[in-house]
Amino acid sequence: MKLPIYLDYHATTPVDPRVLDVMLPFFTENFGNPASRNHKFGWTAATAVENARKQVAKLINASAKEIVFTSGASESNNLAIKGVAQRYRDRGNHLITMATEHKAVLNSAKHLAQQGFTVTYVRVHPDGLVDLDDLKAALTDKTLIVSIMAANNEIGVLQPMAEIGRLCHERGALLHTDAAQATGKIPLDVVAMQIDLLSIAGHKMYAPKGVGALYVRRRGTPLDLVPIIDGGGHEGGLRSGTLNVPGIVGLGKACEICRQEMPEESRRLAALRDRLKEGLLAGLEGIHINGSLEHRLPNNLSVSFPGIDLPTLMGAVSDVALSSGSACSSGKPEPSYVLQALGVPEEVANTPLRFGLGRYTTEEEIDYCLGRVVEAVKQLRGMSSTEAA
Ligand SMILES: *Cc1c(COP(=O)(O)O)cnc(C)c1O
Repeated sequence: MKLPIYLDYHATTPVDPRVLDVMLPFFTENFGNPASRNHKFGWTAATAVENARKQVAKLINASAKEIVFTSGASESNNLAIKGVAQRYRDRGNHLITMATEHKAVLNSAKHLAQQGFTVTYVRVHPDGLVDLDDLKAALTDKTLIVSIMAANNEIGVLQPMAEIGRLCHERGALLHTDAAQATGKIPLDVVAMQIDLLSIAGHKMYAPKGVGALYVRRRGTPLDLVPIIDGGGHEGGLRSGTLNVPGIVGLGKACEICRQEMPEESRRLAALRDRLKEGLLAGLEGIHINGSLEHRLPNNLSVSFPGIDLPTLMGAVSDVALSSGSACSSGKPEPSYVLQALGVPEEVANTPLRFGLGRYTTEEEIDYCLGRVVEAVKQLRGMSSTEAA
Protein backbone atom coordinates (compact mmCIF):
# COMPACT_ATOMS: atom_id res chain seq x y z
CA MET A 1 0.00 0.00 0.00
CA LYS A 2 1.35 3.41 -1.01
CA LEU A 3 1.02 6.53 1.14
CA PRO A 4 -0.55 9.03 1.03
CA ILE A 5 -3.92 7.44 0.35
CA TYR A 6 -6.29 9.35 -1.91
CA LEU A 7 -9.85 9.54 -0.58
CA ASP A 8 -10.91 12.79 -2.22
CA TYR A 9 -12.49 11.45 -5.42
CA HIS A 10 -15.27 14.05 -5.25
CA ALA A 11 -12.71 16.80 -5.77
CA THR A 12 -11.17 15.13 -8.79
CA THR A 13 -10.15 11.72 -10.12
CA PRO A 14 -7.00 10.52 -11.83
CA VAL A 15 -7.23 9.81 -15.56
CA ASP A 16 -7.83 6.09 -16.10
CA PRO A 17 -4.85 4.65 -18.06
CA ARG A 18 -7.36 3.20 -20.57
CA VAL A 19 -8.68 6.73 -21.10
CA LEU A 20 -5.19 8.17 -21.50
CA ASP A 21 -4.32 5.46 -24.05
CA VAL A 22 -7.11 6.46 -26.42
CA MET A 23 -6.31 10.17 -25.94
CA LEU A 24 -2.59 10.10 -26.69
CA PRO A 25 -2.69 9.80 -30.51
CA PHE A 26 -4.89 12.92 -30.62
CA PHE A 27 -2.09 15.04 -29.18
CA THR A 28 0.45 13.92 -31.79
CA GLU A 29 -0.27 12.15 -35.07
CA ASN A 30 -4.03 12.78 -35.06
CA PHE A 31 -3.79 16.44 -34.15
CA GLY A 32 -6.24 17.71 -36.76
CA ASN A 33 -8.93 20.29 -36.18
CA PRO A 34 -12.34 18.63 -36.53
CA ALA A 35 -13.61 21.79 -38.22
CA SER A 36 -11.14 21.26 -41.08
CA ARG A 37 -13.44 19.72 -43.65
CA ASN A 38 -11.00 19.44 -46.55
CA HIS A 39 -8.45 16.86 -45.48
CA LYS A 40 -7.88 13.63 -43.65
CA PHE A 41 -6.42 15.29 -40.53
CA GLY A 42 -9.71 17.05 -39.95
CA TRP A 43 -11.84 14.04 -40.85
CA THR A 44 -9.98 11.78 -38.40
CA ALA A 45 -10.49 14.26 -35.57
CA ALA A 46 -14.14 14.84 -36.48
CA THR A 47 -14.83 11.10 -36.56
CA ALA A 48 -13.27 10.68 -33.12
CA VAL A 49 -15.32 13.55 -31.70
CA GLU A 50 -18.55 12.12 -33.12
CA ASN A 51 -17.72 8.72 -31.67
CA ALA A 52 -17.15 10.32 -28.25
CA ARG A 53 -20.44 12.19 -28.58
CA LYS A 54 -22.22 8.84 -29.01
CA GLN A 55 -20.40 7.35 -26.01
CA VAL A 56 -21.40 10.26 -23.76
CA ALA A 57 -25.00 10.19 -25.03
CA LYS A 58 -25.35 6.46 -24.47
CA LEU A 59 -24.44 6.74 -20.77
CA ILE A 60 -27.45 8.98 -20.08
CA ASN A 61 -29.84 7.62 -22.74
CA ALA A 62 -29.57 10.74 -24.90
CA SER A 63 -28.86 10.95 -28.60
CA ALA A 64 -25.51 12.15 -29.89
CA LYS A 65 -26.82 15.42 -31.30
CA GLU A 66 -28.04 16.38 -27.83
CA ILE A 67 -24.47 16.51 -26.45
CA VAL A 68 -22.51 19.80 -26.43
CA PHE A 69 -18.87 19.60 -25.38
CA THR A 70 -17.68 22.21 -22.87
CA SER A 71 -14.74 22.80 -20.55
CA GLY A 72 -16.46 21.17 -17.57
CA ALA A 73 -19.46 21.23 -15.31
CA SER A 74 -19.03 24.86 -14.23
CA GLU A 75 -19.31 25.98 -17.82
CA SER A 76 -22.15 23.56 -18.51
CA ASN A 77 -24.11 24.86 -15.51
CA ASN A 78 -23.59 28.46 -16.61
CA LEU A 79 -24.55 27.71 -20.19
CA ALA A 80 -27.67 25.78 -19.18
CA ILE A 81 -29.04 28.28 -16.68
CA LYS A 82 -28.03 31.58 -18.29
CA GLY A 83 -28.59 30.25 -21.81
CA VAL A 84 -32.18 29.23 -21.10
CA ALA A 85 -32.89 32.40 -19.13
CA GLN A 86 -31.76 34.62 -21.99
CA ARG A 87 -33.38 32.60 -24.72
CA TYR A 88 -36.80 32.15 -23.11
CA ARG A 89 -37.10 35.25 -20.96
CA ASP A 90 -40.48 36.02 -22.53
CA ARG A 91 -41.85 32.74 -21.11
CA GLY A 92 -41.04 33.52 -17.48
CA ASN A 93 -38.57 35.14 -15.13
CA HIS A 94 -38.59 32.66 -12.27
CA LEU A 95 -35.83 30.22 -11.40
CA ILE A 96 -36.01 27.54 -8.71
CA THR A 97 -32.96 25.92 -7.15
CA MET A 98 -31.79 24.90 -3.66
CA ALA A 99 -29.16 26.01 -1.18
CA THR A 100 -27.10 22.80 -1.35
CA GLU A 101 -26.18 23.28 -5.03
CA HIS A 102 -22.64 23.77 -6.29
CA LYS A 103 -21.44 27.37 -6.48
CA ALA A 104 -21.54 27.26 -10.28
CA VAL A 105 -25.32 26.92 -10.03
CA LEU A 106 -25.81 29.23 -7.03
CA ASN A 107 -23.75 32.02 -8.55
CA SER A 108 -25.42 31.63 -11.94
CA ALA A 109 -28.72 32.06 -10.10
CA LYS A 110 -27.35 35.13 -8.33
CA HIS A 111 -26.29 36.56 -11.67
CA LEU A 112 -29.83 36.13 -13.00
CA ALA A 113 -31.27 37.68 -9.83
CA GLN A 114 -29.20 40.78 -10.59
CA GLN A 115 -30.78 40.82 -14.04
CA GLY A 116 -34.29 40.87 -12.67
CA PHE A 117 -35.04 37.17 -12.30
CA THR A 118 -36.83 35.94 -9.20
CA VAL A 119 -35.01 33.05 -7.55
CA THR A 120 -36.67 30.64 -5.12
CA TYR A 121 -34.53 28.33 -2.98
CA VAL A 122 -36.63 25.31 -2.10
CA ARG A 123 -36.28 23.72 1.32
CA VAL A 124 -34.15 20.66 1.88
CA HIS A 125 -34.91 18.10 4.58
CA PRO A 126 -32.31 17.45 7.31
CA ASP A 127 -31.25 14.33 5.36
CA GLY A 128 -30.36 16.47 2.32
CA LEU A 129 -33.33 15.53 0.13
CA VAL A 130 -35.26 18.30 -1.52
CA ASP A 131 -38.70 18.99 -0.04
CA LEU A 132 -40.95 17.96 -2.94
CA ASP A 133 -44.03 19.65 -1.44
CA ASP A 134 -42.08 22.88 -1.22
CA LEU A 135 -40.94 22.46 -4.83
CA LYS A 136 -44.51 21.81 -5.94
CA ALA A 137 -45.68 24.92 -4.11
CA ALA A 138 -42.85 27.03 -5.55
CA LEU A 139 -43.62 26.17 -9.20
CA THR A 140 -45.68 28.86 -10.91
CA ASP A 141 -46.64 29.74 -14.48
CA LYS A 142 -43.65 32.08 -14.49
CA THR A 143 -41.17 29.33 -13.57
CA LEU A 144 -38.85 28.98 -16.55
CA ILE A 145 -36.29 26.58 -15.17
CA VAL A 146 -35.60 24.41 -12.12
CA SER A 147 -32.01 23.46 -11.32
CA ILE A 148 -31.61 20.57 -8.88
CA MET A 149 -28.41 18.56 -8.68
CA ALA A 150 -28.54 14.79 -9.18
CA ALA A 151 -25.90 14.07 -6.50
CA ASN A 152 -24.36 16.40 -3.95
CA ASN A 153 -20.59 16.85 -3.97
CA GLU A 154 -20.23 17.09 -0.20
CA ILE A 155 -22.70 14.61 1.25
CA GLY A 156 -23.42 12.45 -1.80
CA VAL A 157 -27.19 12.72 -1.42
CA LEU A 158 -29.17 11.74 -4.53
CA GLN A 159 -32.29 13.67 -5.48
CA PRO A 160 -35.37 11.91 -6.89
CA MET A 161 -34.87 13.19 -10.42
CA ALA A 162 -37.79 11.35 -12.02
CA GLU A 163 -40.26 12.81 -9.51
CA ILE A 164 -38.72 16.25 -9.88
CA GLY A 165 -38.92 15.93 -13.67
CA ARG A 166 -42.58 15.03 -13.49
CA LEU A 167 -43.42 17.97 -11.21
CA CYS A 168 -41.52 20.44 -13.43
CA HIS A 169 -43.12 19.26 -16.64
CA GLU A 170 -46.61 19.30 -15.13
CA ARG A 171 -46.09 23.03 -14.67
CA GLY A 172 -44.30 23.61 -17.98
CA ALA A 173 -40.93 24.34 -16.38
CA LEU A 174 -37.61 23.10 -17.74
CA LEU A 175 -35.38 20.89 -15.59
CA HIS A 176 -31.62 21.27 -15.43
CA THR A 177 -29.50 18.95 -13.30
CA ASP A 178 -25.87 19.29 -12.30
CA ALA A 179 -24.80 15.67 -12.64
CA ALA A 180 -21.06 16.23 -12.17
CA GLN A 181 -20.94 13.75 -9.29
CA ALA A 182 -23.69 11.44 -10.52
CA THR A 183 -22.67 10.72 -14.11
CA GLY A 184 -21.03 7.34 -14.37
CA LYS A 185 -21.70 6.55 -10.71
CA ILE A 186 -25.44 5.93 -10.75
CA PRO A 187 -27.83 5.14 -13.63
CA LEU A 188 -29.13 8.32 -15.29
CA ASP A 189 -31.79 8.36 -17.99
CA VAL A 190 -32.71 11.77 -19.34
CA VAL A 191 -35.84 10.39 -21.02
CA ALA A 192 -37.26 8.49 -18.04
CA MET A 193 -36.31 11.32 -15.67
CA GLN A 194 -37.64 14.05 -18.00
CA ILE A 195 -34.40 16.02 -17.78
CA ASP A 196 -34.00 18.89 -20.26
CA LEU A 197 -30.41 19.86 -19.49
CA LEU A 198 -27.69 17.88 -17.72
CA SER A 199 -24.13 18.91 -16.82
CA ILE A 200 -21.16 16.53 -16.91
CA ALA A 201 -17.58 17.00 -15.68
CA GLY A 202 -14.80 14.86 -17.18
CA HIS A 203 -12.43 15.02 -14.23
CA LYS A 204 -14.96 13.58 -11.79
CA MET A 205 -15.18 10.39 -13.85
CA TYR A 206 -11.58 9.48 -14.74
CA ALA A 207 -11.29 11.72 -17.82
CA PRO A 208 -9.03 14.79 -17.74
CA LYS A 209 -9.70 18.21 -16.27
CA GLY A 210 -10.91 20.91 -18.62
CA VAL A 211 -13.47 18.85 -20.52
CA GLY A 212 -17.16 18.32 -19.89
CA ALA A 213 -20.50 18.23 -21.61
CA LEU A 214 -23.98 19.63 -21.51
CA TYR A 215 -26.94 17.54 -22.61
CA VAL A 216 -29.52 19.78 -24.29
CA ARG A 217 -32.84 18.06 -25.04
CA ARG A 218 -33.90 17.90 -28.68
CA ARG A 219 -36.81 15.45 -28.42
CA GLY A 220 -40.16 17.18 -28.79
CA THR A 221 -39.54 20.84 -29.48
CA PRO A 222 -35.73 21.13 -29.46
CA LEU A 223 -34.40 23.42 -26.74
CA ASP A 224 -32.40 26.42 -27.82
CA LEU A 225 -29.88 28.35 -25.73
CA VAL A 226 -28.19 31.71 -26.04
CA PRO A 227 -24.47 30.81 -26.05
CA ILE A 228 -21.99 32.27 -23.58
CA ILE A 229 -19.07 32.03 -26.02
CA ASP A 230 -19.71 33.47 -29.47
CA GLY A 231 -17.43 32.66 -32.36
CA GLY A 232 -17.24 30.29 -35.30
CA GLY A 233 -20.43 28.47 -34.40
CA HIS A 234 -18.97 25.17 -33.21
CA GLU A 235 -21.22 22.71 -31.34
CA GLY A 236 -24.31 23.82 -33.19
CA GLY A 237 -23.59 27.43 -32.33
CA LEU A 238 -23.97 26.72 -28.61
CA ARG A 239 -20.27 26.72 -27.75
CA SER A 240 -17.77 28.24 -30.12
CA GLY A 241 -14.07 27.50 -29.98
CA THR A 242 -11.84 24.78 -31.45
CA LEU A 243 -12.74 21.50 -29.82
CA ASN A 244 -10.50 19.94 -27.17
CA VAL A 245 -10.19 16.73 -29.20
CA PRO A 246 -7.98 14.68 -26.84
CA GLY A 247 -10.14 15.67 -23.86
CA ILE A 248 -13.35 14.87 -25.71
CA VAL A 249 -12.03 11.48 -26.85
CA GLY A 250 -11.06 10.81 -23.24
CA LEU A 251 -14.46 11.83 -21.92
CA GLY A 252 -16.13 9.48 -24.42
CA LYS A 253 -13.97 6.54 -23.36
CA ALA A 254 -14.51 7.40 -19.67
CA CYS A 255 -18.28 7.28 -20.23
CA GLU A 256 -18.03 3.93 -21.97
CA ILE A 257 -15.97 2.44 -19.12
CA CYS A 258 -18.35 3.77 -16.48
CA ARG A 259 -21.35 2.39 -18.34
CA GLN A 260 -19.81 -1.07 -18.62
CA GLU A 261 -18.45 -1.25 -15.07
CA MET A 262 -21.11 0.67 -13.11
CA PRO A 263 -23.17 -2.25 -11.69
CA GLU A 264 -20.17 -4.11 -10.30
CA GLU A 265 -18.16 -1.03 -9.36
CA SER A 266 -20.99 0.62 -7.46
CA ARG A 267 -21.52 -2.56 -5.42
CA ARG A 268 -17.80 -2.72 -4.64
CA LEU A 269 -17.63 0.93 -3.61
CA ALA A 270 -20.78 0.79 -1.49
CA ALA A 271 -19.38 -2.24 0.36
CA LEU A 272 -16.11 -0.43 1.07
CA ARG A 273 -17.97 2.72 2.10
CA ASP A 274 -20.20 0.70 4.45
CA ARG A 275 -17.15 -0.99 5.93
CA LEU A 276 -15.70 2.45 6.69
CA LYS A 277 -18.99 3.68 8.13
CA GLU A 278 -19.48 0.64 10.35
CA GLY A 279 -15.90 0.84 11.56
CA LEU A 280 -16.21 4.51 12.48
CA LEU A 281 -19.50 3.96 14.28
CA ALA A 282 -18.10 0.96 16.17
CA GLY A 283 -14.89 2.76 17.10
CA LEU A 284 -16.20 6.19 18.04
CA GLU A 285 -19.16 7.53 19.95
CA GLY A 286 -20.80 10.86 19.32
CA ILE A 287 -20.06 11.11 15.59
CA HIS A 288 -22.69 12.16 13.10
CA ILE A 289 -23.30 10.78 9.59
CA ASN A 290 -24.40 13.59 7.29
CA GLY A 291 -27.10 13.07 4.69
CA SER A 292 -29.39 10.20 3.78
CA LEU A 293 -27.70 6.80 3.74
CA GLU A 294 -30.42 5.34 1.55
CA HIS A 295 -30.35 7.98 -1.21
CA ARG A 296 -26.64 8.30 -1.65
CA LEU A 297 -23.74 7.88 -4.03
CA PRO A 298 -22.04 4.51 -3.47
CA ASN A 299 -18.65 6.20 -3.08
CA ASN A 300 -19.50 8.88 -0.50
CA LEU A 301 -19.44 9.12 3.26
CA SER A 302 -19.65 12.38 5.18
CA VAL A 303 -19.09 12.27 8.92
CA SER A 304 -19.02 15.09 11.45
CA PHE A 305 -16.96 14.98 14.64
CA PRO A 306 -18.58 17.40 17.11
CA GLY A 307 -16.13 18.70 19.68
CA ILE A 308 -13.10 18.02 17.49
CA ASP A 309 -11.02 20.77 15.90
CA LEU A 310 -11.21 19.73 12.25
CA PRO A 311 -7.92 21.23 11.00
CA THR A 312 -6.12 19.45 13.87
CA LEU A 313 -7.81 16.14 12.99
CA MET A 314 -6.95 16.51 9.32
CA GLY A 315 -3.37 17.33 10.29
CA ALA A 316 -3.23 14.19 12.42
CA VAL A 317 -4.30 11.98 9.49
CA SER A 318 -2.25 13.79 6.89
CA ASP A 319 -1.26 10.58 5.10
CA VAL A 320 -4.89 10.21 4.01
CA ALA A 321 -6.04 12.82 1.49
CA LEU A 322 -9.45 13.87 2.77
CA SER A 323 -11.49 17.00 2.44
CA SER A 324 -13.56 18.85 4.97
CA GLY A 325 -16.07 19.37 2.19
CA SER A 326 -16.39 22.95 3.30
CA ALA A 327 -15.11 26.04 1.56
CA CYS A 328 -11.79 26.92 3.07
CA SER A 329 -10.99 30.42 1.89
CA SER A 330 -8.06 32.44 3.20
CA GLY A 331 -7.09 29.50 5.40
CA LYS A 332 -9.96 30.21 7.73
CA PRO A 333 -12.23 27.17 7.98
CA GLU A 334 -15.83 28.12 7.42
CA PRO A 335 -18.85 25.99 8.26
CA SER A 336 -20.17 23.94 5.36
CA TYR A 337 -22.96 25.87 3.62
CA VAL A 338 -24.39 22.52 2.53
CA LEU A 339 -24.68 21.25 6.10
CA GLN A 340 -25.99 24.62 7.27
CA ALA A 341 -28.76 24.34 4.69
CA LEU A 342 -29.72 20.99 6.23
CA GLY A 343 -30.32 22.78 9.51
CA VAL A 344 -27.88 20.62 11.50
CA PRO A 345 -26.36 21.96 14.74
CA GLU A 346 -23.37 24.27 14.36
CA GLU A 347 -21.03 21.68 15.89
CA VAL A 348 -22.00 19.28 13.09
CA ALA A 349 -21.83 21.88 10.30
CA ASN A 350 -18.35 22.88 11.48
CA THR A 351 -16.75 19.45 11.65
CA PRO A 352 -17.45 17.35 8.51
CA LEU A 353 -14.94 15.00 6.96
CA ARG A 354 -15.76 13.87 3.45
CA PHE A 355 -14.58 10.42 2.43
CA GLY A 356 -14.66 10.13 -1.35
CA LEU A 357 -13.91 6.61 -2.59
CA GLY A 358 -13.06 5.72 -6.15
CA ARG A 359 -11.91 3.27 -8.79
CA TYR A 360 -8.49 2.68 -7.21
CA THR A 361 -9.60 2.52 -3.57
CA THR A 362 -8.75 -0.81 -1.90
CA GLU A 363 -9.99 -2.52 1.23
CA GLU A 364 -6.50 -2.20 2.70
CA GLU A 365 -6.63 1.56 2.22
CA ILE A 366 -10.05 1.81 3.85
CA ASP A 367 -8.87 -0.19 6.85
CA TYR A 368 -5.78 1.97 7.19
CA CYS A 369 -7.82 5.18 6.96
CA LEU A 370 -10.32 3.84 9.48
CA GLY A 371 -7.58 3.01 11.97
CA ARG A 372 -5.92 6.39 11.58
CA VAL A 373 -9.11 8.41 12.00
CA VAL A 374 -10.36 6.44 15.03
CA GLU A 375 -6.97 6.67 16.70
CA ALA A 376 -6.61 10.40 15.98
CA VAL A 377 -10.10 11.28 17.24
CA LYS A 378 -9.57 9.27 20.45
CA GLN A 379 -6.27 10.98 21.01
CA LEU A 380 -7.70 14.45 20.42
CA ARG A 381 -10.60 13.76 22.74
CA GLY A 382 -8.22 12.46 25.39
CA MET A 383 -6.18 15.61 25.12
CA SER A 384 -9.17 17.91 25.40
CA SER A 385 -10.57 16.01 28.43
CA THR A 386 -7.15 16.26 30.11
CA GLU A 387 -7.21 19.99 29.42
CA ALA A 388 -10.70 20.28 30.84
CA ALA A 389 -9.75 18.37 34.00
C1 LIG B 1 -16.84 19.46 -9.59
C2 LIG B 1 -18.24 19.93 -9.67
C3 LIG B 1 -18.60 21.00 -10.49
C4 LIG B 1 -17.59 21.78 -11.28
O1 LIG B 1 -17.09 21.02 -12.34
P1 LIG B 1 -15.82 21.53 -13.15
O2 LIG B 1 -15.73 20.56 -14.28
O3 LIG B 1 -14.67 21.42 -12.20
O4 LIG B 1 -16.08 22.91 -13.59
C5 LIG B 1 -19.93 21.36 -10.53
N1 LIG B 1 -20.85 20.71 -9.81
C6 LIG B 1 -20.55 19.68 -9.01
C7 LIG B 1 -21.63 18.99 -8.27
C8 LIG B 1 -19.24 19.26 -8.91
O5 LIG B 1 -18.94 18.24 -8.10
